[in-house]
Amino acid sequence: MTEPQVQQILSVHVPGIDGFCAGCRAWWARLCPYPCQQVEWAARRQARTATRRFLDGLR
Ligand SMILES: [Zn+2]
Repeated sequence: MTEPQVQQILSVHVPGIDGFCAGCRAWWARLCPYPCQQVEWAARRQARTATRRFLDGLR
């Protein structure tokens, strides 16, 4: 999984007006409460990447 894919997940899986994830509904016709698993995964992944960049900058 590359970073552009993480960005794509974060841009597609957004909160819908009714509190469900708009991305899950559009892609899989599934009603997932937001934040869904995809968003949580992508956010974790992005946070880890940011942390690694930060640590690399310190060296
Ligand atoms: Zn989703």
